[in-house]
Order: sequence, then structure tokens, then C-alpha cells
Amino acid sequence: MNILLIHTEKQSMSALKKLIGAAEQLSKTIDLIYIGENDLTQLQGVQQVFHYSKATLNSPSISHIIQAHDQNYQTIMVHSDTTAKDFIPYYCGQIRSPMLSDISKIIDKNHFERAIYAGAIREQIKYNGDRLIMSIRGIYFEATASKATAKIKQCTTKQSIQYPELIKTQTTTDEIDLSTAEIVVSGGRGLGSKENFAKLFELAKQFNAAVGASRAAVDAGYIDNSHQVGQTGKIIAPRVYISLGISGAVQHLSGMKDAQIIIAIDKNPEAPIFSVADYGYSGDLFNALEKLKGKNIIPH
Ligand code: FAD
Repeated sequence: MNILLIHTEKQSMSALKKLIGAAEQLSKTIDLIYIGENDLTQLQGVQQVFHYSKATLNSPSISHIIQAHDQNYQTIMVHSDTTAKDFIPYYCGQIRSPMLSDISKIIDKNHFERAIYAGAIREQIKYNGDRLIMSIRGIYFEATASKATAKIKQCTTKQSIQYPELIKTQTTTDEIDLSTAEIVVSGGRGLGSKENFAKLFELAKQFNAAVGASRAAVDAGYIDNSHQVGQTGKIIAPRVYISLGISGAVQHLSGMKDAQIIIAIDKNPEAPIFSVADYGYSGDLFNALEKLKGKNIIPH
């Protein structure tokens, strides 16, 4: 089975390694379309990269590029994030094909698993179609361990479709990618202000962690929505999740309850977050922030 992966510079390299790891469960013949300017000479685990360094990063343009290659592949896979959720349904619409989204487990080439209803139910899907197009949740897959480097072919496309027009690209490359981070420090409405979130960023730096947030914190303007964890934000499964001032509404829990170790800090001892926490501290989060300065509390 030939597999074609699609990835762009708006998506992280750690997500790409997990995407390759997931594809390896189905085949060893894996190629990649990469759209963006990153250097891929050290990329491992794929045979051939079709590298479009100057292409326009919008759905019609990406769909046009995929269609220039897709006839040689039975399977097309992407990492499920906001970028792919934009271009891959567009592409499927163009070629009139169904797709499987948010796959968290590959059982075999026809059976897959994913979470639905905000993580309350895991469903198994049987798929017998001729062509398989799917998005996977990278957090549930191991990164590729392959050492083989790829052959890179520089490609160009004349097509530059400006619809919708791209006004601004916001990159957060200096931050750890929240969707694949090993440690996440997350803040809620309890932090009370944007200025207090700056303290959370300092703590995250200390732990080499990504920063997450509840929707209430995002809606209050304390932090931008790329950090939101939960049903309508990112679904993550880090090794360690530390929450501060997050009550633990079901919509938030559905985005982080698969973390291996959950540490919750909240002044309300009845807060639902404690029902999923492995370690809890019921008290003032600002006190906790002071006490955590310079200390390494991350369990191994
Ligand atoms: P709150 O519930 O207000 O909790 C704040 C917590 O801070 C409280 O527990 C309080 O005790 C504590 N606190 C306050 N001050 C201190 C202090 N000084 N020290 C210690 N603790 C303190 N939410 C998400 O997070 N993600 C989603 O993706 C999401 N999607 C949603 C989708 C839908 C359709 C709907 C209806 C809701 C969604 N929500 C989502 C919102 C969700 O229901 C909650 O409203 C939200 O998660 C609450 O955020 P919070 O815990 O920060 O705020």
C-alpha cells in the first residue's frame, strides 16, 4: 500500500514525526508532500518528499497540489489540527471522496478507532472503500523511529489560488507545540488577567512545558485561542498536565483527561478537576505559583 502524507510549515515537525509513525502501521512505502520553507534534509521515515517551498498555504492551493500526486496512492494521511481540518475536507469535497477524521488507533487496514461525543465514547469504524483518506490524532501514536533519510524533490506549482485571501499568518514556532507536548501547564479563569498568564508562561519555561488554557480564560482575552484545551479546542494527552484555576467542566476534561499524570491546583476543593487528578492542591494558585518557582515537581 502506497501512502501519501500531507504536511505544511504551519504544522509542527513533532506532529509530522508522529504522522509518519502512524503511517508505518499500515505500510513502509510512505511519501510526503511538504508545503513550506523548512529544511527537510534530516527527515527520516519517508521515501520521497515532494517539497513545495513557495506554494500558497490555503485550502484550494493545497488541494490543487495534492491532486497533482494523488493518483499513485491508495491512502492519504494528515495530522488532525486546525490547518489540516481546513484543507483536507476541502480536498475531499473537490474529489468527491469520504474521509475518516480524528483517528486515534489503527487496528488494521480496514478498522480504526476514534473518540466521539467529547471523548465520552470510543467508536470503531470499518472502512472498505477503494481509497482511504484520514486524519489522525498524533498524540496517540509513537513518532517514527526510522533512521532512513528521504529523497527530496523540489517542486513548484503555477497555481496560486487566493481564495480565501490570506491576510496574516501567525506562527508560534518559538513555543512548544501544545498538541504534542510532553508537559503542559494550563490556566483558567482563576488566573484573573493576561498579566497573570505571563507568570504561567514563566512556569512553563521552567518545566520546558507548553501552555494550555480553558475556554473561559480564552474568552476573557487572557490568552489566544490556539492555547485552548477541550472539546472546542485541542485534545491533548501529555505525560504531565498541570492545571491552575480551572474548575474542570466536562468540555475541558474531554480535552485533557487522557494525560498520564494530572496535577490540579484550585481553591475550591469540590472543583470537578480533582475527580480526574492524580495529585491535587486545594488552595490559592498565586501562592502555589510562588512556591513552585525554581522547583522541579515534574514526576518521572
Ligand atoms: P471556571 O469554571 O470559572 O473555574 C475557575 C476556577 O478557578 C474555579 O474552580 C475557582 O475555584 C478557581 N479559582 C479562582 N481563583 C482562584 C485562586 N486564586 N486560586 C485557585 N483557584 C482559583 N471549556 C474549555 O476549557 N475548553 C473547551 O474546549 C470548551 N468547549 C466548550 C464547548 C461548549 C459547547 C460549551 C457549552 C462550553 C465549552 N467550554 C469549554 C466551557 C466550559 O463549559 C467551562 O465554562 C470552562 O471550561 C470554564 O473554564 P474555567 O475552569 O477556567 O472557569
